[in-house]
Amino acid sequence: MRRLQIITVAIVAIIIAVALPIGGALYLAQRAGVESAHAQATTLAESLKRVFEAASKQGSSIVVTLSATALGPPCSPASIGAMGDVQLSSRYVQGAGYVQGGRLRCTGSGIHGDGYRLPKPVYTSTRGVHIRRNVALPHVPGQRFIIAEDSATGFAVIFHDNLGFDLFEHVPGMAAGVVSRSTNEVIAHRGYLAREWLAPRGTADRYNLISHGHVVALVESAEFDFGVYSALPVPPVSERLREAAIVFVPIGAVVAGVLVLLVVMIARAQFSMPVALQLALKRNEFAMEYQPVVDLQTRRWVGAEALIRWRRESGPPVRPDVLIRIAEDSGMIQSLTERVFQLVASDMAGFAGFRGRKPFHIAVNVSAADLQSERTVVLVRELVDAVSGSGLSVIVEATEHGLMDQESCREIIDAIRGSGAAIALDDFGTGYSSLSYIRKFNLDYLKIDRAFVETIGTDSPTSGVVRHIIDIARTMRLEVVAEGIETEVQAAYLAEHGVRLAQGWLFARPMTVDALLAALDEDADAPEAAE
Ligand code: C2E
Ligand code: CA
Ligand code: CA
Repeated sequence: MRRLQIITVAIVAIIIAVALPIGGALYLAQRAGVESAHAQATTLAESLKRVFEAASKQGSSIVVTLSATALGPPCSPASIGAMGDVQLSSRYVQGAGYVQGGRLRCTGSGIHGDGYRLPKPVYTSTRGVHIRRNVALPHVPGQRFIIAEDSATGFAVIFHDNLGFDLFEHVPGMAAGVVSRSTNEVIAHRGYLAREWLAPRGTADRYNLISHGHVVALVESAEFDFGVYSALPVPPVSERLREAAIVFVPIGAVVAGVLVLLVVMIARAQFSMPVALQLALKRNEFAMEYQPVVDLQTRRWVGAEALIRWRRESGPPVRPDVLIRIAEDSGMIQSLTERVFQLVASDMAGFAGFRGRKPFHIAVNVSAADLQSERTVVLVRELVDAVSGSGLSVIVEATEHGLMDQESCREIIDAIRGSGAAIALDDFGTGYSSLSYIRKFNLDYLKIDRAFVETIGTDSPTSGVVRHIIDIARTMRLEVVAEGIETEVQAAYLAEHGVRLAQGWLFARPMTVDALLAALDEDADAPEAAE
């Protein structure tokens, strides 16, 4: 279940970690893209509107000029001369002429016989101007024109059919058009056109919308009856998305990679260690080492603490405290403790040959879970029975942490003592339990943790703790064992303060059972000069 949870959480975390930055970046890029396309479309629509407004103004003022009675009849020489002037002097207007009965009778170039037949107007403005589009004029071959005819006078102005749209020639995919505001008729347009773009949209004079794959801007003329739209295809926007993706997808991939690595590492630590532990139990990869406990006065070995070692066939070495934590976390500690007791029992079988005249003890560590189980009592009893013949005694080391569940612990501890073993409180001072709490248990030894021994002779703020612990032990009538002695200064201080038993690299490191027994044998043979 834990496994499933970890995997699920990891996958969700990876998805969020990758999707969030990429999604966020894409969203921002898209918004920026749409905004800039709208801005561009609005600018283009405005330009187009200005051109059409200027052209309309110019056209109507030309019609006014040509209508002046002083010029005589519409196609009189004076009138045609004035039309010719227009051709030269106007920016937007290409020429002027006179239309009668749908025929262009004359222009600045002269009288055109019967007149050129013109196509039907595509649109008539509210001011009565007929607009004809796509008009070919025989005297200007190869070109197309717009002819705007003032229906009241017959005078007409001629525009280039591409008027205004030449602005857009460089913008790929651009669509634009001019639309009557009153009738919604399209007067002129280039490129793609969707009717939805032209639907009346209330009273504002400009709109932005996204429709039919285009970003559309609409602006309306205040003076004339037309509006201008300009539309850019959405692809330039997705191009921006692509650009953003090029930057962010690799970043997301790296983030995902790191996360996957992390998950794999966690998964390895979480899943494979217990499996490896189980295998190690099956393959007997565990062995014990023994660290002697000395009498501080004589420096003779009076006992040894059994410490587990994992001799791994494969994989990196695992420290005993790490191994114990993994076993505790994966619920395998009791199997491991059982193995420890077996190993100690078989190691100590060799003690039969030991001819020591002094009492000797073997200390075995147990975990919190062991102190909840009757099985531990059985293990201790079996060990006591196995070694008692050779004069060995057994001490069970429990940590403060192991005593947390008061009631059940007390019973187990009492049962262990009842089966002939002593109890040592290990790592004393590193837990959080109060003294009054500890007092509720029947204990025999109190082990001062290495962390406090280290402070002896230093000016560390906890350097007074060692004395304090010794005092506590004394009032509780417990024997003290000091752990982790590395210097003579520490040894001297402890001896001076009445500590009898000690353990540490100064005296001996943990060793194999063979080394331990060999050293004890030698010691037994030696003359008792020390005493
Ligand atoms: P611990 O019970 O406090 O064991 C003492 C540790 O201090 C041992 O580490 C020992 O090698 C180390 N030590 C002894 N003297 C010195 C010294 O002078 N200097 C320094 N720096 N270290 C010293 P080890 O063998 O690595 O064991 C670590 C812990 O793993 C033990 O701490 C104990 O809590 C746990 N452990 C070991 N074997 C067992 C076991 O069979 N069962 C259980 N439940 N826990 C075990
Ligand atoms: Ca211990
Ligand atoms: Ca300890």
